[in-house]
Amino acid sequence: MSEIKIPLRDMRFSMRELLNWDQHYAALGYEDASPDVVDAILEEGAKFCENVLAPINQVGDQQGCTWNDGEVTTPEGFKEAYQQFVEAGWPSLPHKVEHGGQGLPPSLGTILSEMVGTANWSWGMYPGLSHGAMNTLEAHGTDAQKETYLTKLVEGTWTGTMCLTEPHCGTDLGILRSKAEPNDDGSYSITGTKIFISAGEHDMAENIVHIVLARLPDAPAGTKGISLFIVPKFLPNEDGSVGERNGVTCGSLEHKMGIHGNATAVLNFDGAKGFLIGPPNKGLNCMFTFMNTARLGTALQGVAHAEAGFQKSLAYAKDRLQMRSLSGPKNPEGAADPIIVHPDVRRMLLTQKAFSEGGRMLVLLCAQQVDRSHAAETDEERKDADDLLAFLTPIAKAFLTETGYESANLGLQCFGGHGYIAEWGMEQNVRDSRISTIYEGTTGIQALDLLGRKVLMSQGELLRKFTKIVHKFCQAEVDNEALAPYVAKLQEINKEWGELTMNIGVKAMENPDEVGAASVDYLMYSGYAVQAYLWALAAKTANEKLQAGTGEEDFYRAKIATARFYFDRILPRTATHASAMQSGADNLMGLDAEHFVF
Ligand SMILES: Cc1cc2nc3c(=O)[nH]c(=O)nc-3n(C[C@H](O)[C@H](O)[C@H](O)COP(=O)(O)OP(=O)(O)OC[C@H]3O[C@@H](n4cnc5c(N)ncnc54)[C@H](O)[C@@H]3O)c2cc1C
Repeated sequence: MSEIKIPLRDMRFSMRELLNWDQHYAALGYEDASPDVVDAILEEGAKFCENVLAPINQVGDQQGCTWNDGEVTTPEGFKEAYQQFVEAGWPSLPHKVEHGGQGLPPSLGTILSEMVGTANWSWGMYPGLSHGAMNTLEAHGTDAQKETYLTKLVEGTWTGTMCLTEPHCGTDLGILRSKAEPNDDGSYSITGTKIFISAGEHDMAENIVHIVLARLPDAPAGTKGISLFIVPKFLPNEDGSVGERNGVTCGSLEHKMGIHGNATAVLNFDGAKGFLIGPPNKGLNCMFTFMNTARLGTALQGVAHAEAGFQKSLAYAKDRLQMRSLSGPKNPEGAADPIIVHPDVRRMLLTQKAFSEGGRMLVLLCAQQVDRSHAAETDEERKDADDLLAFLTPIAKAFLTETGYESANLGLQCFGGHGYIAEWGMEQNVRDSRISTIYEGTTGIQALDLLGRKVLMSQGELLRKFTKIVHKFCQAEVDNEALAPYVAKLQEINKEWGELTMNIGVKAMENPDEVGAASVDYLMYSGYAVQAYLWALAAKTANEKLQAGTGEEDFYRAKIATARFYFDRILPRTATHASAMQSGADNLMGLDAEHFVF
């Protein structure tokens, strides 16, 4: 099995050269995030991921987690790796100093998560879920809750979970049934069953802080009657140490397609002691903090699997000898040519490269908005960052996981039959990546969020915010000959994007099903459009570096070749999505459910 390398060169390209992070950090007043410190973090993080996490990725898949009478054992090496992670202070990196954090920008946490996820996604979900719990407590917890729980999570000695799903309710949280009865001491007794809880039970940390949605007595029906609670596995003592076992137990673990190293738990809450976070009946609003963190985290999963598959299939394609090149032998001394000479293998490799590097650019653009929002000094600045982030988040979550899964499949395909055999890790990469389009809101739900809530409900304002950025770029580069093919196409797409939105908006006024019928095609179209902007920006950056003669010609030439491939061979997919979304709802809804037969 070939090894995973953290793509530090490309990370630096996206962070520094494309998005100017050094200036970005300086402008936001993150003095500690100097270029030297950032470099040291990247180097150390990469070493940990390559040397500690990657080697236990396949072990995690083969052994999985085991359940024994409510206790869960993680695969060999997981617990030890987590101890090292905590001792090195990684969980505290992007959190506030007053809670024991290092006060570094949130985006550095995003970079670290990408590294961890590329090396071992299942393992990375344990600290990943904690990160969401920390953000929720930081935003909505009381001072006492922060002191008791947040500091332990920041330290890493406790981990967190996110408990929404119940057997009868996944997408539709409005119908959840878990109950919260008030106790005399101000706490609540939580009763109900939560399923599919990632990192819900394990042996890696001394306590687990469950963040749980439940209903108060007499709460209004639907989403307006949901409240949010902290339910620790062990109740903390006055001095902060771990105390009595709480009434929450792990009933079983799910047997599943991939991410075997992560425990997906059924949790039974039997009058477990819980503590309200935020106002009563506003739980879903507070949970959105968690969900938004988790959505960007899941977007990263697409990038991670695309990157892992790309690296391995590229190495294989340079090594594996099969058939001769159509244009004459390229390896005349050998029995055959390496498969990288074949155009179709190139297509598969370049698609993966375009999606992994393009995905990284998009996630980092989102992470930059998170930094801006956190550091904003005025409401206007915060709104500007939040609006862009609100628009880009469903695109990043759904588009990058769909293309991440496509990439993982192409990575396997490059190996032929050997990809289907466990030894190379390619089939694990496909299985592990499959969940990413489902959890944290399926692709269908992200698409409804994008088109319905973000675009149409804002009367197109959030879309215009982004298309204006693209428009400005095109205007500035209109005379740049090197970018001519990109700019012309980008202008067309930018215009068409607005027109398609208008058309759907008009149809939706007559028939609301038009929104649902267009939504996934709209989301995918939007994803390709956003990526086109980023690839044009990448081509511009790489061209400038080549002209300036900064060296590393191979890196920049490969970047330009990938931008060209993206525009010529991937971006045309927008035509299919445009046509499908304009075809209307009738071709989907014409058949009555009772006539929908096999
Ligand atoms: C491995 C794993 C880990 C998970 N981790 C967690 C976790 O840590 N915490 C947690 O709370 N949950 C977790 N989940 C649950 C996950 O978030 C849900 O599975 C997901 O939200 C979908 O819910 P569901 O499975 O009930 O599907 P359903 O909601 O039943 O949906 C079924 C299908 O119908 C579609 N659909 C539903 N409503 C609509 C609509 N209005 N418009 C269009 N399409 C629609 C969906 O897109 C989907 O394709 C996890 C799940 C898995 C498998």
